Amino acid sequence: MAKPTATCRVNRRGAARWRERLHPWIYRSDVIEPPRADAGDVLVLDERGAPVGMALWSPSSTISLRMLTQDERAIDEAFWRERIGAALTYRARLAPRANAYRLVHGEGDGLPSLVVDRYDEWLVVQLLSAGLEAHRAAVVAALRALTGVRGILARNDVSVRDHERLPRSVELLYGSVPEEVEVRENDVAYLAAPWTGQKTGAFLDQRENRARAGELARGRALDCFSYHGSFALHLATGADEVTAVDSSADALERARENATRNGVAIANDEGVESRGTRGGRMRFVEANVFDFLRAQEAAGAVYDTIVLDPPAFAKRKDAVERALRGYKEINLRAMRLLSPGGYLLTFTCSHHVSEPAFRAMLDDAAADAGRPMRWIESRGQAADHPVILQIPESSYLKGAVLQAVE
Ligand code: SAH
Repeated sequence: MAKPTATCRVNRRGAARWRERLHPWIYRSDVIEPPRADAGDVLVLDERGAPVGMALWSPSSTISLRMLTQDERAIDEAFWRERIGAALTYRARLAPRANAYRLVHGEGDGLPSLVVDRYDEWLVVQLLSAGLEAHRAAVVAALRALTGVRGILARNDVSVRDHERLPRSVELLYGSVPEEVEVRENDVAYLAAPWTGQKTGAFLDQRENRARAGELARGRALDCFSYHGSFALHLATGADEVTAVDSSADALERARENATRNGVAIANDEGVESRGTRGGRMRFVEANVFDFLRAQEAAGAVYDTIVLDPPAFAKRKDAVERALRGYKEINLRAMRLLSPGGYLLTFTCSHHVSEPAFRAMLDDAAADAGRPMRWIESRGQAADHPVILQIPESSYLKGAVLQAVE
């Protein structure tokens, strides 16, 4: 017999958050009677004892409950199959032009604290709450049944697990997963490293923006914060020369391998290092982007296409001011380096930097750069990372395409 479902009680504010605003998080301060149970699924009741729905319960997090449903039901393998199945159906209609894409984007797919990325025939997952961790076996079984993949890896080596008192680890959950997987994205290919790479191995959220970079690229291009060169490779499809800058020698080493994989020539200060069969040549610079841009400005360098894809400068709310100063500095320098008519594709992946704050930062940077900048379009995360309007936390990547007025 199934064990009886644990229950808990929340106040009016907690219940209204889900019932009225469809925001799935209920904070500890709104829980009047916590469940007398370990982490897992619970039935949430309101002050009067009427059901609010089923939730994942995290005993040590300030986000105590993550709502899953609006009614009472069993949270079993059939539930996970149904919910993950809906996420798959949504992706099938998107038909991303890649063999790597996000299958489940947590709250954005009604699956709070679950991230699943598909890399060709393998999955990389992140279980980010204690309540979800208790359902690991059923989630893995549902994923296997729905996708038929050859292996599932958990990249649970992330700091948010600390708030849940969960260990950080990288663990094979099923089958086998290779050290490297070739990602074919738009018209380029690059190697992702599921076990050791950043995030789950690559930055899949930028796929559509990388395609756009390829369309706009021309002349001399610059890819700042290049990582393994995925923007740079797209830029090389339209530009004559692409300079990829990153502070990590390891990342640039992989960018170099990826250039060769795509038949792109490599240049260095002495001239041509290796010949290519397609696209413009690539150069690699190991440097701090802040120093690099300052030096380029001093040297009077000019670029026709620039990408700025920095890491999250604001990891916490109280770091936003400082982060905005950093974003402004790199943006204003990039604006000064643009040729007339040149494009700047600029991003922030900080949750805490809102779209209006990002826009205001760019306005300031353009004013200080002392040249008129044309707003071409806003950009965001790829559609396989869905944003739910009621859940601002589901949106984190903001971006824009700007053009230096001729
Ligand atoms: N554009 C990449 C992702 C960038 S991730 C893509 O689309 O795949 C951020 C990168 O910035 C990392 O590779 C990190 O090594 C690099 N980085 C962080 N701070 C830096 C700095 N101050 N200067 C140069 N590179 C930096």
